[in-house]
Amino acid sequence: MIIDSHVHLSIYEGQAISLQKALDKLLEEMKKNNVEQAIIIPDNIENDPKIADLDTAISLIKGKSNLFLLGSPQIIQRGSSEVEKYKKLFVEGKIKGIKFFPGHDPYYPIDERCLPYFEICQNLNIPVVFHTGENSNNPELSKYNDPKYIVEVAKKYSNLKVVITHYYWPKIEYCYEITKNTPNIYFELAGTADEEVLEKSGGIEKMKEVLLKTIADRPDQVIFGTDYPMCKIESHIELVKSLNLSQDEKNKIFSTNAIKLYKLPKLL
Ligand SMILES: [Zn+2]
Repeated sequence: MIIDSHVHLSIYEGQAISLQKALDKLLEEMKKNNVEQAIIIPDNIENDPKIADLDTAISLIKGKSNLFLLGSPQIIQRGSSEVEKYKKLFVEGKIKGIKFFPGHDPYYPIDERCLPYFEICQNLNIPVVFHTGENSNNPELSKYNDPKYIVEVAKKYSNLKVVITHYYWPKIEYCYEITKNTPNIYFELAGTADEEVLEKSGGIEKMKEVLLKTIADRPDQVIFGTDYPMCKIESHIELVKSLNLSQDEKNKIFSTNAIKLYKLPKLL
């Protein structure tokens, strides 16, 4: 059983011609790959007809009991002013966590405007996810999501569940080392099986080595994700399957850890 904790609804990739079609395609892909549940991350870009923002995503997935959402506050445009909005969305069960996009947007994870969100997420046990890694269009921007700042957040809020996605590629070894001693950090695997990511990060063997070390350190804190439709679901499944792990460890990565982290309904 597989839960994909990182997908998007977008018509930038693939042949979808509307967001509704993109949703149909996602459901089809899920079925094909035996993915039973997925967490959709709305983009922080609003009012772009090509990618679903939060309001669009909420209405699109209505009635789909196997799809969930994260929220993504607009730190640059609205600072801390949306804290109450996201708190309400969480309490109403409309979002399962909050994603921050440092490096898409020019702010650091420890930015003052983010802190009120962390405060509330810690109190309500809402996981926060940080986008990390290279931005192919603008490599300069990855300075904003350097995991050293994420470690600062995790230390300041030691009961906050802090999820790193994309493993700060291509500097995956650095990301492993700098986060190693911070227990409340989680890793979500989106992008780690992507060709460009692998090529720039030292190849698939290097990726496997870093992932195995990470899983050995935190067997309950690594969760499966893909970044579909930018990345292929099947190559990410293959990557996890190829790791030298017990079935029990693989089950944790593919589903159990995400169920616990995001408080998802248990799979039958
Ligand atoms: Zn993504």
